[in-house]
Amino acid sequence: FPTIHRAFAEQAERRPDKALFELPGGRVLTYGDTATAVRRIAARLVADGVVPGDRVAMQVEKSPEAVALYLATLRIGGVFLPLNPAYTGAETDYLLQDAQPRVLVCAPRRRAAHAHHEATGLVIETLGTDGDGSLLDAADDGGAQQAHEAAAGDPAAILYTSGTTGRSKGAVLTHGNLTANCEALLESWRFTAEDRLIHALPVFHIHGLFVAANMALTSGAAMYYLPKFDPDDVLDLLPTATVLMGVPTFYTRLLKNERLTRESCAAMRLFVSGSAPLLASDHATFEARTGHAILERYGMTETGMNATNPCTGGPRKPGTVGRPLPGTEIRVVDAGTGRVLPHGEVGSIEVRGPNVFTGYWRMPEKTASEFRADGFFVTGDLGRFDEDGYLSIVGRSKDLVISGGYNIYPKEVEELLDAHPQVLESAVIGVPHPDYGETVVAVVVPVPGQRPREGELLDCVAGDLARFKHPRAVRVVETLPRNVMGKVQKAELRERYGDLFA
Ligand code: ATP
Ligand code: MG
Repeated sequence: FPTIHRAFAEQAERRPDKALFELPGGRVLTYGDTATAVRRIAARLVADGVVPGDRVAMQVEKSPEAVALYLATLRIGGVFLPLNPAYTGAETDYLLQDAQPRVLVCAPRRRAAHAHHEATGLVIETLGTDGDGSLLDAADDGGAQQAHEAAAGDPAAILYTSGTTGRSKGAVLTHGNLTANCEALLESWRFTAEDRLIHALPVFHIHGLFVAANMALTSGAAMYYLPKFDPDDVLDLLPTATVLMGVPTFYTRLLKNERLTRESCAAMRLFVSGSAPLLASDHATFEARTGHAILERYGMTETGMNATNPCTGGPRKPGTVGRPLPGTEIRVVDAGTGRVLPHGEVGSIEVRGPNVFTGYWRMPEKTASEFRADGFFVTGDLGRFDEDGYLSIVGRSKDLVISGGYNIYPKEVEELLDAHPQVLESAVIGVPHPDYGETVVAVVVPVPGQRPREGELLDCVAGDLARFKHPRAVRVVETLPRNVMGKVQKAELRERYGDLFA
């Protein structure tokens, strides 16, 4: 289909009375209701002066109207720019200056805090979580307005990366990027209008917006639309839902709840995990408890989804992210020479396809340095293919530890630590060392109530690891630092333990 908005509008014409958003407390918005909200918001944005190519920034709590704002922006040829509402004033200011939107839609209570931007010509609109705010009280219902005809190569959105490895970068995604990826996912995951998706992810991030919401909006499916992830709420919905898309912590938390059983999942057809690595042990426990093998997939802001385990027609292998999506090419290369590596060898993951973004917003040098001459994007992740063509992610190149000239993949050490009965999870990092350049430090979170000893943990992993991979220090902590998407902030850990050997 030509654009996400167009595909949604077709669904809304076909099934205006079908529920699209089903909210806790019983509120329902149909496809028709949503289309009406989209037209109304589009009229308001046009009245605010938005012309094709203008950025429309959104920084609000999750609501159906936030998704309607996204669709309205696409409808008029604008470029949608969602921002995490958890950003501080200074972070938001930086991003607004960077992206220079025409309109900012913010929570009613934050309006005053942004007023100083109006001097630069920014129009501020408000949107609350109950359909309140200035954005929706347009005089014009937009009924007379035509949708803008966007080309596949026109920008549709700027999405900021999660900022796990440094400052967030704005990835410019085109209409063609979004539709190509959405179509590939609909086909791969056999997603249809019969589906009822549990949507408990944020809508300012690729996972909740361009994977989960896009798939529902363009297929005619319904969504249980939750403000946030709460295991009990999700367990209430499982018996009448068909698909859950989540980050690994969703599954870790569901597994802690005794209501998660084979019976409670009987109506479900698919559990999807991504955005961070799913523990192979969680995969196994989940399957034993529910009969469902979680489908793990791999993607990023810049490319959308790249690889997925099969929905049908093949095994879902724990610890892998499956095979390339239709239309997407993935290669594992030697980072230095660019030589494609044989199966089994770890290297830099590069991708090419209609899903891959056009570049970072106003960072031409950064963009140029992350693309190869033949159009492959250097993801910054390290991985390897197995003999069946399944990809495993072993970590990020920035997290690779190089000690005395040897490469150490943190994941290898983490998996051994995680297997210890007293360990809940771990993060292995490299810190500066006067002799080796870098050396390995393990940061470990114990199972509640347990107090593992440093020496014992070291002994436990030593037998399975070459000497240069042995952690030189173990630190037991209560929790690992994580960002909103549940990603471990290794840069913060490196800073914290940076002078252990210095
Ligand atoms: P930044 O680029 O700002 O440092 P980020 O890379 O975390 O942040 P995102 O685009 O949200 O920002 O995340 C994409 C990254 O998430 C991938 O490059 C990969 O490292 C990780 N990731 C996604 N899915 C998986 C998965 N199934 N297993 C392991 N890692 C994954
Ligand atoms: Mg990244």
